[in-house]
Amino acid sequence: MRKLAAGNWKMNGTRAGLDMVTALLAAQPNPGCDMLLCPPATLISAMTAAARGSRLMVGAQDCHAKPSGAHTGDLAAPMLADAGATHVILGHSERRADHGETDDQVCAKAEAALAAGLVAIVCLGETEDQRDVGQTLDVIAAQLDGSVPAGATAANLVIACEPVWAIGTGRTPTLAQIAEVHGFLRARLATLVGVAAAETRLLYGGSVKPGNAAEIFALPHVDGALVGGASLKAEDFAPIVAALSAA
Ligand code: PEP
Repeated sequence: MRKLAAGNWKMNGTRAGLDMVTALLAAQPNPGCDMLLCPPATLISAMTAAARGSRLMVGAQDCHAKPSGAHTGDLAAPMLADAGATHVILGHSERRADHGETDDQVCAKAEAALAAGLVAIVCLGETEDQRDVGQTLDVIAAQLDGSVPAGATAANLVIACEPVWAIGTGRTPTLAQIAEVHGFLRARLATLVGVAAAETRLLYGGSVKPGNAAEIFALPHVDGALVGGASLKAEDFAPIVAALSAA
C-alpha cells in the first residue's frame, strides 16, 4: 500500500501562503508516499494550479451531504472536485465539537464525497476524559461503525485516528497506545469492509512533527499521518513526508 502524508491547514492561509507549496515541491519532488494538502476551500483552486504537474494532491476540509441546494455558506462535494480537490476530510474533531457533527452526518457526507469521486478521510478519536475512563476503544469503534459509508473501498476511504487531546497540544499518545488503537481499528474495519481493510490507509493524527514522525511511522497499522500545525510550513512538512517515505 502507498502511504499518505496529509496536511490539514484548518482556517489558516491566504494566497501568499502558497509559497509553501513551491518550497515543499522543491524539497520533496518525488516522495515515496502520497502527499496531500487540505487548505481552506478558498485556496483549493489556487493550490491545485500551484501543484499542477507535481505529485502533490489537494483536498478539502468538509463538504455538505447534498450535491446542491439552498444551504447558504456550505460547499457540496462536486464543487470541491470541480475546484481541484481529490480528497475531503470529514468528521474532524473540530467540526464535531464546533458544529455538533454526528456520526450519521459524517457518514452522509462521506457518501456524498464518494458519489462525487472524492476520497473521504474520515476522522475519529477519543477525548482525554474518555481515555481516562478506559472508553477509547469503545468510542472509536462506535465512530467507525457509524461513519464509514456504504460503498467504501481501500481506494476511496482513509481513516484518520486522532486522539482529541493530542490535536494541536504537542502531546502524543505512547507508541504502545497508538499501536493498540490502530491494530484494533484494522480488525474492526474488516468487519465493515472485509478484505479491503488490509489495504485501507489508517492515518495517525495529533501533534505529528519532524521529531516524532519516524517512530510513529514505524508502528504496525500506521499508514501515514494527518498533520495540522506542522503542515503549514515546508520546513516542517517536508521532513515528515521524508520520514514516511523511508518507513
Ligand atoms: C489535525 O488537525 O488533524 C491535527 C492532527 O493537528 P496537529 O497536527 O496540529 O495536532
